[in-house]
Amino acid sequence: MRIVLLGAPGAGKGTQAKMLIEKYQIPQISTGDILRKAVADGTPLGKEAKVIMDKGELVPDKIVLGLVDERVKQDDCKKGFILDGFPRNTVQAEALDKLLNDIKMPLDSALSVDVPRDDLMKRLTGRRTCKSCQQMYNVYYSPPKKEGACDKCGGELFQRDDDKEETIKKRLDVYDAQTAPLIDYYNKKGIVKSVLGKGSIDEIFKQVCNILEGK
Ligand code: AMP
Repeated sequence: MRIVLLGAPGAGKGTQAKMLIEKYQIPQISTGDILRKAVADGTPLGKEAKVIMDKGELVPDKIVLGLVDERVKQDDCKKGFILDGFPRNTVQAEALDKLLNDIKMPLDSALSVDVPRDDLMKRLTGRRTCKSCQQMYNVYYSPPKKEGACDKCGGELFQRDDDKEETIKKRLDVYDAQTAPLIDYYNKKGIVKSVLGKGSIDEIFKQVCNILEGK
């Protein structure tokens, strides 16, 4: 199963990806996570990326393409993978097609998780992550029992620098202008499947699995 997850920031792609990994035992490739790790590790790439990420803009295609190229060629991707947050524009989508055709592993599905914009704002501004175990919370929808602390491990919760209101607006605008057109791009290839990303996470996941399995 080789899938691209499409959907605006905050649509719940990461959450669904984590559940898909468990169920289908295939890796998630999140370019956002890879970049955030490079930022946390303080690598030259991370330093370059942080400035761009904090503004809510896209990191240059060449950088993310290099990261994805390297990642999909690793052994654990032979049985499939879930691309989350990549591709973000047509240049990346075309490069991905070429890369996957070259290694004879074309995409099966482009799954679009659709959520109205008002909901996205609340989801993103309310998002908090545990510094220790990466467990996610939302101060509006799924707050931790004790403010600022992780229910699971007691770790400190933080807000991503790019989840501040101004940056979020910018990220959503970038999504509308550059990433949303990819739904059309994959539609032309006949591989788009859509799910409404509202309601309980488990219910959405059930629909996602049914759609992917062609039920
Ligand atoms: P995400 O967690 O996927 O929302 O990504 C966070 C930030 O990382 C984005 O706002 C971009 O600055 C950068 N980023 C992640 N994936 C990509 C990509 N495929 N192309 C360019 N920039 C990306």
